[in-house]
Amino acid sequence: AADTAMYRAKAEGRNNFRFFTPRMQEQSAQALQLTNALSRALERGQFALHYQPQVSAATGAISGVEALLRWRHPELGDISPADFIPVAEDSGQIVAIGEWVLDTALAQLQRWRQRGLSGFTMSVNLSAAQFRHPQLPELVAQLLERHGLAGDCLELELTENVAIGDPEAAARIMDQLHAHGVGLAIDDFGTGYSSLSQLKRFRICRLKIDRSFVRDLGQDRNDHALVSAIVRMAQALGMRTTAEGVETPQQLELLRGEGCTELQGFHISRPLPAEQVEPFLLRHQRGARLAPAPSQARP
Ligand code: C2E
Ligand code: MG
Ligand code: MG
Ligand code: MG
Repeated sequence: AADTAMYRAKAEGRNNFRFFTPRMQEQSAQALQLTNALSRALERGQFALHYQPQVSAATGAISGVEALLRWRHPELGDISPADFIPVAEDSGQIVAIGEWVLDTALAQLQRWRQRGLSGFTMSVNLSAAQFRHPQLPELVAQLLERHGLAGDCLELELTENVAIGDPEAAARIMDQLHAHGVGLAIDDFGTGYSSLSQLKRFRICRLKIDRSFVRDLGQDRNDHALVSAIVRMAQALGMRTTAEGVETPQQLELLRGEGCTELQGFHISRPLPAEQVEPFLLRHQRGARLAPAPSQARP
């Protein structure tokens, strides 16, 4: 439809100079519609979190879960975070939504702990606007306290781009979060603009190797070389590595062979609602693999 509109615009537009193509107008109209719908989504309870397990490459034990935001709109249906997160970022709504995500994820972690599901961390994605918000370290500390959790059970995933513009400020915020015991990971590593000198200075405990490097492992020797180099650099800097998007046993074996420390992807588990991820947590708890309790593992 967009192409037809574009064609029409060309045909009509002989002496009209257009700043907006029909495609751009369509996109901004859609963004406006999403912004309006987003502004009511929180109060109407349209958000939910799914949780994707992350496992130790060495033992298969669960090391963490990543909270991933889901939005179900009554008319628009399920909207992908890839579509609505950028809109929420542009409109500033991500700050309130992000607070809900943190609160909900920590509440869930505490609920699991009370039921004996423990020994793994909660990973939460942060947008640049949330990261730069002056109250972030305070908010994180308050939410941890509210849910009776220590800082080291939380890992915040940042993209490389949070440091663009003001690396000094970024380093200060990371120091404050680190002081609360919170872990910091770089998400989608290798796709952004971080410099190696920044990596060294920042309080980063983990690099998450972007899915684009994992996808063709086994076929693409360059990808293999890059994964190998990232893992070795992380080791040298005392950081852990999580491979994202592990979809096949072959990828898993190659990543394990390279010394990648944690694995995440559809081959291990898809992101699931809390109730559905619980059987996985039971089966993969530290030690559970050695002494499986089948009656518990399959409720
Ligand atoms: P991300 O943080 O890099 O999350 C990983 C994405 O890859 C998720 O997509 C997950 O469902 C998907 N994924 C996991 N394993 C595999 C696999 O083996 N193969 C493939 N093809 N995909 C896999 P999702 O849930 O659609 O989220 C997309 C992005 O939206 C996230 O990328 C993150 O940047 C953002 N996002 C999600 N939830 C939040 C949130 O609460 N706050 C913020 N600020 N951003 C969020
Ligand atoms: Mg992430
Ligand atoms: Mg990622
Ligand atoms: Mg991402």
